[in-house]
Amino acid sequence: MRLIMLGAPGSGKGTISKMLVEKYNIVQISTGDILRGAVAAGSPVGKQADAYMKRGDLVPDGVIMGIMEERLREADCAPGFILDGFPRTIPQAEALGGLLKKLSLGLDAVCNLDVPEDVIIRRLTGRRTCTNPSCQAIYNLDGKAPKKEGVCDRCGGALAQRDDEKEDVVRARLKTYVEKTEPLIGYYENEGLVLTVAGSESRLLFDQMVAKLGK
Ligand code: ADP
Ligand code: ZN
Repeated sequence: MRLIMLGAPGSGKGTISKMLVEKYNIVQISTGDILRGAVAAGSPVGKQADAYMKRGDLVPDGVIMGIMEERLREADCAPGFILDGFPRTIPQAEALGGLLKKLSLGLDAVCNLDVPEDVIIRRLTGRRTCTNPSCQAIYNLDGKAPKKEGVCDRCGGALAQRDDEKEDVVRARLKTYVEKTEPLIGYYENEGLVLTVAGSESRLLFDQMVAKLGK
C-alpha cells in the first residue's frame, strides 16, 4: 500500500501515520523527522534546512526532492509506504509524480485529515518534548500533561517547547499550510485519490480512514 498523508500541522498526521504503519506493515517517511535529524546531526542538508524550519517556512523543494529520491529507493520501501509531511507544495507533488513514474510505482490513496483549527492551535502550542536525546517523550499541556511541570515522567529530563511550536511560528506554519499545501487536496482530487476524514481524536480518524481504505 502506498499512501500520502495530508493535514495541517497538529492534525495528528504523524500519530495516524504510525497507526497505519502497524496496520498495513508499511514504512512511514516523515520529511519533518528526517530534516530534524539532519539539523541535529549538523549535516549539509541540516545546515540548509535549519533557518527555514525555525521560521516556520518550507525548506526549498530541491532539498526535499533530494532527500525523497534517496529514501524511496531504499529496500524497506518495497512493501509500501506512507508519506507524512510530503508533498507540501504543488511543485513537490509534480516532482513526486515524476519520481514514482521513474520507479514504476503508483499511489493507492491520499489520506486527508480535516481537524478544527482551534484544536490544532491548542495542541501545537501546548506540546512539550523531553530534551534528553535518548528519550524525546512528547507531552501536551492540553491533555497528556506531565505529572510535574517541566519534568519528564519517564526519565526526569527537562521538557522544552520546540522553537517551531511557539505561538507566532505556529501561526506562520498554519498560514503556509493554507497557502501552499491545501491546494494539493484539489490536485489529488483530480486524480480521484483523496479520502477525507473529519474530527479531532486520532483514534477515531484512524478507524474512519481504515474503513475508507477498505483493506
Ligand atoms: P508539521 O507538519 O507539524 O509542521 P513537520 O514535522 O512535518 O511538522 O515539519 C516541520 C518543518 O520541516 C516544517 O515546518 C518545514 O519547515 C519542514 N518541512 C517538513 N517537510 C517539508 C516538505 N515536504 N517541504 C518543505 N519543508 C518541509
Ligand atoms: Zn524523558
